[in-house]
Amino acid sequence: MKRALNFNAGPAALPEAVLAKAKKEMMNYQDLGMGVMELSHRSKQFEAINDRTQSLLRLLLNIPDDYEVLFLQGGASLQFTMVPMNLLEEGSTASYVLTGAWSEKALKEAQKIGSATAIASSKSTNYKSIPSLSEINGKPDSSYLHITTNNTIYGTQWHQFPEKINVPLVADMSSDILSRPIHVSSYGLIYAGAQKNLGPSGVTVVIINKQLLKRSRPDLPAMLNYQVQADSNSLYNTPPTLSVYFLMLVLEWAESIGGVQQLERMNQQKAAMLYDAIDRSNGFYKGHAEKDSRSLMNINFTLADDDLSASFLHEAEELGFIGLAGHRSVGGCRASIYNAVPLEHVEQLAKFMNDFRLRN
Ligand code: PMP
Repeated sequence: MKRALNFNAGPAALPEAVLAKAKKEMMNYQDLGMGVMELSHRSKQFEAINDRTQSLLRLLLNIPDDYEVLFLQGGASLQFTMVPMNLLEEGSTASYVLTGAWSEKALKEAQKIGSATAIASSKSTNYKSIPSLSEINGKPDSSYLHITTNNTIYGTQWHQFPEKINVPLVADMSSDILSRPIHVSSYGLIYAGAQKNLGPSGVTVVIINKQLLKRSRPDLPAMLNYQVQADSNSLYNTPPTLSVYFLMLVLEWAESIGGVQQLERMNQQKAAMLYDAIDRSNGFYKGHAEKDSRSLMNINFTLADDDLSASFLHEAEELGFIGLAGHRSVGGCRASIYNAVPLEHVEQLAKFMNDFRLRN
């Protein structure tokens, strides 16, 4: 069967090898006569999946021992609430850098829990860049500083990170986790919904420094308390077993192809193909992001007018390209090229972009 040319923003393409393995194990996992989603979450087989998934993530992202790794539910959106609930200290405030719609939402939810403010924002230029670090470094005097490392809707990404901020850095990495090496010790907390680079939807990864866990007050609802989740190894209630299993398969795949260094090289190569098609088009395609803020994951561009955009998207669809329409809030086009999108599919898209330009 021919696989779709899938450029969806999330849920998104999964590695073919992962789907093939899951298919093989669907009816009969480890000769148990049942599939993974039929296993008890208290069985030793599922505990082994849970532990292995955690170890693989620790290995791939080089997560130090003084961090807990949690597998939660509710998507990245629930983290917009859990982060301030657990980390915002009495009488203090939380600082946010606004780089797009998701960071706006994160701030809005935090303001329902307590005091939270934006200390920098690129909204006035329609989020086409990441605010400069000089606006941020040394500034926050707060419970934590929240950033969104990749802005899925606007196609921008942080390439340098705040320093000397003296408060825990909290990062929403939903759309670029596992796409490049990260220095986990620079963060107090990292969170990411799985459905772009890590697996299917249904599980959210949280990586939290053990010192920060002490801020989780015992009177918080148990399900929303990081300490409770950490104490129970993410098995406080029934976890999304199938999503965790898929996460394990995706991490095994990532390790087998050479880990995050190799993924980063592949992502740079893929992104360069599409940015070249934009940059060499003499303005036929206009990239949304400023060059130094460009994302390796989401490539956003517009064409001269809505009619040309519509005809680009229509032809692309006829040729089997899926998911190229920009987010409804910004319009234009967007190609999401997460880890699992094959190089050949990106090559085909770059070729189509060049062909379409020559014909129009
Ligand atoms: N943050 C970012 C950067 C995202 O791209 C998304 C989803 N597209 C979210 C948060 C929200 O994630 P979820 O749907 O898992 O709540």
